[in-house]
Amino acid sequence: MKTIGLIGGMSWESSLEYYRIINQVIREKLGGYHSARILMYSFDFSEIAELPDKGGWGETAALIIVAARKLEKAGADVLLICTNTMHKVAEEVQDNVGIPLLHIADTAAEQIKARGLKKTGLLGTIFTMEDDFYKERLAEKHGLETIVPDEQERQIINNVIYNELCCGQIRKSSKKEFRKIMQNLAVKGAEGIILGCTEICLLVNQQDVEIPVFDTTTIHATAAAVFALDQ
Ligand code: GLU
Repeated sequence: MKTIGLIGGMSWESSLEYYRIINQVIREKLGGYHSARILMYSFDFSEIAELPDKGGWGETAALIIVAARKLEKAGADVLLICTNTMHKVAEEVQDNVGIPLLHIADTAAEQIKARGLKKTGLLGTIFTMEDDFYKERLAEKHGLETIVPDEQERQIINNVIYNELCCGQIRKSSKKEFRKIMQNLAVKGAEGIILGCTEICLLVNQQDVEIPVFDTTTIHATAAAVFALDQ
């Protein structure tokens, strides 16, 4: 079994899910006492959370590269950045290590294509929904079209992520808002919804909307476990 290197703590609420899901998949596949070989570098989120707001993507990349190299040196065979947003610097991170980085958007795209869908709605932070790094990768590498909620809805989603979900707060009122936003995306033609922030699965799931939901936390973590077992 290969060793999985997790770059987490962004936030730890979702890193906990990665740890649980990866171990569950390994147990399902191997049985007995088997569990995953995992190394984790868990950031103090306050060190890194506000850098993007200040335009500090260079500093963000530098911090994540340090973490990635530490994990590589410690023996990781594969790296995961346990947040969609920080994939803005994924290519720079990959260029600075000698082990593969499992890109979260690629793992989601594989699932979307497997379901035969072409156009999905994307929920995530402002960076993930508005910048090009995520949508462009889905379009150029995978031929998938992405639509995002309107501006006011994007603001609501971003606030819920940073002010509630990353702080361990799950509110019924926010769940209701997210359901409405997902429904609006379906009306606009989305055939599925990407939960493109690793904390969103703590708030909503497949039961909250009729069209297929692609939870990037579960998809990414599962892909890591499968990769670890791949001979
Ligand atoms: N975990 C979040 C994501 O998947 C947001 C936190 C962050 O990395 O800024 O995008």
